[in-house]
Amino acid sequence: KFISFEGPDGAGKTSVIQQIQEDLEQQLGKEAVKYIREPGGSRISEEIRQLLFDNQNADMDPRTEALLFAASRRQVVVSEIIPALKAGKTILCDRYVDSSIAYQGAGRGLGEQEIWQINQFAIDGLMPDLTIYLDIESELGLQRIAEHRANQVNRLDKEKLAFHQTVRQSYLRLQQRHPARIKLIDASQPLPTVINDVKTTIHDRFSE
Ligand code: C5P
Ligand code: MG
Repeated sequence: KFISFEGPDGAGKTSVIQQIQEDLEQQLGKEAVKYIREPGGSRISEEIRQLLFDNQNADMDPRTEALLFAASRRQVVVSEIIPALKAGKTILCDRYVDSSIAYQGAGRGLGEQEIWQINQFAIDGLMPDLTIYLDIESELGLQRIAEHRANQVNRLDKEKLAFHQTVRQSYLRLQQRHPARIKLIDASQPLPTVINDVKTTIHDRFSE
């Protein structure tokens, strides 16, 4: 099983995934669950992550950025995700293709279709069985970030409200276009409620 987690900044993605991972590990055993953060998740992909987040790379061209995200993804698919799926593991992926469509395609204005095409080349057809989309209003998301991680700002964390609104609208369109794969969770609810909704969604999807 391949589950990706998506959402705008401040949706609570990291906390939610941590809890879901603990839960699934209890249920299935530690070895049966694999967490991957994107960009990153393999040695080469983590090096690409460094390039992407480095505050010194303020002059990075948006297309370079999009290609690096895709390159990082390609490497983690081949070296980590495919082998884990073959071994029957459940993959919990913190961001995947939808992030690139929303952030680089819509947010940076490179075009959702164009980003989809370079990512198709990168993933060669490997899409998640289920995508959990944690939806949050941009104002609230930004407010949460300001409260919780003001001290760990990277190059990509510096965008303003309009950028985040564009990203969210793109996510919402993706969800409407792929309702069977992408399930929307209201992430403005209290964290325990969000986690509960995610658990139910995962359970329902794989108990059919
Ligand atoms: O997943 P996480 O919230 O830690 O993302 C780290 C940063 O990278 C965030 O600021 C996010 O907006 C940004 N990002 C991006 N394009 C992506 C994925 C993440 O700009 N495709
Ligand atoms: Mg995060």
